[in-house]
Amino acid sequence: MNPNRADVLVLGGGIAGLSAAWVLGRYLPEATIGLLEQADAFSEVGAGIQLGPNATRVLYDWGLKSALWEVAAFPLLVHARDAVSGSEKGRLPLADRALQRYGTPYATVHRADLHRMLLERVKAHGIEGQLGQRVEQVTLTEQGARLTTQTGVSWDSGVLIACDGLWSRTREQCWSQAPAAAFTGQVAYRGMVRMAALPEDLRRSEVVVWLGRRLHAVHYPVRAGEWLNVVVVVHGDRPAEDAGWDHAATEEALFHALGPIHRDLRRALEAVPAWRLWPLFGRRPVRKAGDLVQGAVALMGDAGHPMRPYLAQGAAMALEDAWTLGRLLESRSSAAVDWPALLQRWGELRWRRCGWVQARSTRNGRIFHATGPLKWGRDLAMAVMGERLMDTPALYAGPPFPA
Ligand SMILES: Cc1cc2nc3c(=O)[nH]c(=O)nc-3n(C[C@H](O)[C@H](O)[C@H](O)COP(=O)(O)OP(=O)(O)OC[C@H]3O[C@@H](n4cnc5c(N)ncnc54)[C@H](O)[C@@H]3O)c2cc1C
Repeated sequence: MNPNRADVLVLGGGIAGLSAAWVLGRYLPEATIGLLEQADAFSEVGAGIQLGPNATRVLYDWGLKSALWEVAAFPLLVHARDAVSGSEKGRLPLADRALQRYGTPYATVHRADLHRMLLERVKAHGIEGQLGQRVEQVTLTEQGARLTTQTGVSWDSGVLIACDGLWSRTREQCWSQAPAAAFTGQVAYRGMVRMAALPEDLRRSEVVVWLGRRLHAVHYPVRAGEWLNVVVVVHGDRPAEDAGWDHAATEEALFHALGPIHRDLRRALEAVPAWRLWPLFGRRPVRKAGDLVQGAVALMGDAGHPMRPYLAQGAAMALEDAWTLGRLLESRSSAAVDWPALLQRWGELRWRRCGWVQARSTRNGRIFHATGPLKWGRDLAMAVMGERLMDTPALYAGPPFPA
């Protein structure tokens, strides 16, 4: 028998994989849970992430409220402005309003802080994780799945929770009809700057969204308000190096891509000491449970439902995936788990919401970057409907509780 055997294997140690591993450790204390990661250390990129009330609800439910409050910022509002004139287009109060409306806050965090929080939970369950395990081959077997790494080591498991990201080997090899991710024609410039290094009038506890023609920028505080995270999305070519999504970038190229912009936005961008470039890829939204589950194999996080960043929900959906899995494990009627049935149920609960969020994210991108009549209609709708247009109750009130 293969000594590298686990009752359940989680592939990938990003936000999705750590969340899934923690939930498995919590609800299946007797089971052996394996966690495989290709990198030589568990880590996340140096960038921020917004967590809507649906995501913070999951973290609160997992007992991570105080850990979140130590590292997060809690912006007072989302402030939409015109990228050229600087005029206000809309406001959505967050802070108390989000708490009153949804019961949990709207938070902004550094990815590494969220990742560390989850990793600590995983380790507390005795799941150490196997690093440097780049899986090349994923094969479905009668007993579950066999994973073979670049160095020829094989891992067997009755159940595979694949959280191996946008370029998922699992999806590529086990969902052979599924189309691969395609470049969207858009690239994201990302950077961070210390609040103290910004002009004083720009040090605000706000998510500022700058809307321009074929571009938008977002900045918000992270690290308990000590840093500002900045993202600028423009239309552009894919960097020459393939696949990997983190590339060096220059301020010069960024300003060239942006053209004329408002002084406040320019000053915020000029303060950022270094830029990274991420080409954005997309896949069509999931359409059925079978897009996420096959027997005892499930695709979670970006492996299953990658999305454009315009709704800031990719990581939130990964957290919801794991939370839903946890709920199903918690409410099962017997100690033994019927994995194909449980994962099928999980897929039925998740595909509609994830597919909707994927489609909505793409639609938001078109609205954010609008030109011509669409831009005119957007600005009018924002002026008339204000915060009702900027809020997303069906999203933030989630995740739906499995009946
Ligand atoms: C510009 C931008 C801004 C965003 N902003 C937000 C936001 O504000 N809020 C939000 O909720 N989401 C946001 N997202 C989305 C979010 O970043 C992703 O949805 C989330 O990080 C996905 O996590 P994951 O664990 O599924 O995938 P990943 O983070 O890609 O993790 C996959 C893991 O699997 C490992 N792996 C991959 N292949 C193998 C293999 N063959 N063998 C072993 N290990 C492997 C990788 O090394 C990695 O550790 C944004 C995305 C972008 C591009």
